[in-house]
Amino acid sequence: MKSPVVGPRWGAPPWRFRFRIPSAPLPRSADAVVIGAGFAGLAAARSLAAAGLQVVVLEGGRVGGGASGRSGGVVLEGAAAGELPGLGSAIEALRERIRRDGIECGLELPGCLELAHRERAEGPWRERGWRDAGRWLVPAAEVPGGTLDPGALLSGMAAAATRAGARIHEGVRASRLRAMPAPALETTAGGLSAGLVVVAAGAFTGGLVPEAGELHAALTPALVTAPLPRDAGLGPAGGRPFYTVDLPYLWGRPLPDGALMLGAGLVRGDPEQLPNRRIDRGAFARAIRELEDRLRGLTPRFRGLGVRRRFAGPVCFRTGAVPLLCLHPESPRVALAGAFAGHGVALAPLAGELAAEALLGRRALPDWGRPCPDPAQDPAARSRRA
Ligand SMILES: Cc1cc2nc3c(=O)[nH]c(=O)nc-3n(C[C@H](O)[C@H](O)[C@H](O)COP(=O)(O)OP(=O)(O)OC[C@H]3O[C@@H](n4cnc5c(N)ncnc54)[C@H](O)[C@@H]3O)c2cc1C
Repeated sequence: MKSPVVGPRWGAPPWRFRFRIPSAPLPRSADAVVIGAGFAGLAAARSLAAAGLQVVVLEGGRVGGGASGRSGGVVLEGAAAGELPGLGSAIEALRERIRRDGIECGLELPGCLELAHRERAEGPWRERGWRDAGRWLVPAAEVPGGTLDPGALLSGMAAAATRAGARIHEGVRASRLRAMPAPALETTAGGLSAGLVVVAAGAFTGGLVPEAGELHAALTPALVTAPLPRDAGLGPAGGRPFYTVDLPYLWGRPLPDGALMLGAGLVRGDPEQLPNRRIDRGAFARAIRELEDRLRGLTPRFRGLGVRRRFAGPVCFRTGAVPLLCLHPESPRVALAGAFAGHGVALAPLAGELAAEALLGRRALPDWGRPCPDPAQDPAARSRRA
């Protein structure tokens, strides 16, 4: 598997990671190993360390170098598939995490605007609304949600995990995971045995755990404009984040300096090849161009609007957009948390925590339709492994 170190190929998001990770040699064994230092992995690490376990976090690139540090920071409830049984409120859980760990990440929850493409718009939405794909964008609903700074959230979560006793090792990639008879890993810095393992490797989960079932990986582009002109129209009315509920999909959020972050589109591909994709070449460059064209078409006031950043990040999803949150089909000592699609800012930390609590025997994981086939029940899973 190629290293998930991403660097400049995917462009630079506007967020900054501000926590200095203490360096430490990689031990040969640990009570618990977490693979991936995104939102899910850092939350799992904090929970496991707070329970008194010696926790090692392996991060193949830099903390947040996957989706979490490249996200739009739009805080959404539930999952891309909608509300999921047994989950509770992801936004409330995030709020509590931020309060408990003293994380300053600019969380604001003014609500999120759902927009729909319509042939007609009424009143102010006709006079000052935005147009996309030849139609008006009009409000369809307002849902709970808001925005935060993902770099600041990651920094606070890494600090909280470290304070609880977890050790984060950047630039150490897990190349192989053996679940049975006892969890063991091969890494780029040597072998490691573990009492418990949480796999929170985002778009690269399938490469480590083929048993996780069908996972799709893609890169999705985003851009950041110059600060918007004085009358930018009604798009993110009231400074709220927004997304369309129909196609073509478009999401956006205001930034504190008055700029707009806008994103849409998926460039699919073999997860192992994603790190090699460049945002200035091929399908990806086309996706960014299309996004810029859509930005300029939203309102005549945006025709000359500058674009300050173009970047991309990996998304991972299962068919039906139901996240992956389960124990490994071969071992109750390995948990999987991932495939949050474009919905992980609030959901991934909660799922990481739930995965840790399940390994600690404190709770059962919710059943969202058996994402990991149980080998005893599923002959197809048995034969896939044979
Ligand atoms: C451009 C973009 C915008 C988005 N906007 C939003 C948004 O506004 N709101 C929202 O809710 N969601 C959004 N998302 C989705 C959200 O960012 C993700 O759902 C969430 O961050 C996933 O977190 P994670 O911890 O599961 O994965 P990741 O953050 O991808 O973390 C996985 C980590 O594992 C590491 N890793 C992988 N393989 C290995 C290995 N073998 N060994 C060691 N380390 C490994 C990776 O380097 C990575 O750091 C967006 C995503 C993108 C790409």
